[in-house]
Amino acid sequence: MVSRIEQRCIDKSMKMTDQRRVIARVLSDSADHPDVEEVYRRATMIDPHISIATVYRTVRLFEEASILERHDFGDGRARYEEAAGDHHDHLIDMNSGKVIEFTSTEIEALQREIAKRYGYRLVGHRLELYGVPLAAGEEPGKE
Ligand SMILES: [Zn+2]
Repeated sequence: MVSRIEQRCIDKSMKMTDQRRVIARVLSDSADHPDVEEVYRRATMIDPHISIATVYRTVRLFEEASILERHDFGDGRARYEEAAGDHHDHLIDMNSGKVIEFTSTEIEALQREIAKRYGYRLVGHRLELYGVPLAAGEEPGKE
């Protein structure tokens, strides 16, 4: 079976090797935001001959083709997810590294409003929130 990302590569007439196919499958099956080492770990469970250099190259290639989106969640590691039509933003748990995906129509509208205020039409944005879990009974309080 052809994975979603492999299909997107085929649609873009990219040359697909067996190893690229494995990496495409791993990324298609990832519901989280793995970094290259994690993609490598998952890919070698399917094909132990894949090298980390191949994973780096392939991930970069997919990113350049706008098939993958790269994120920086503040720990200096590039993380990847499939570039999707459904836009969402991220809330990062600074203690565990857990990433929560959310959408907010208020934030979207506010951003359009800010762009407009400066004479721009918004074509995209990136938003990462960083937080620590509230302790039991703790009020959110001030930053
Ligand atoms: Zn995401």
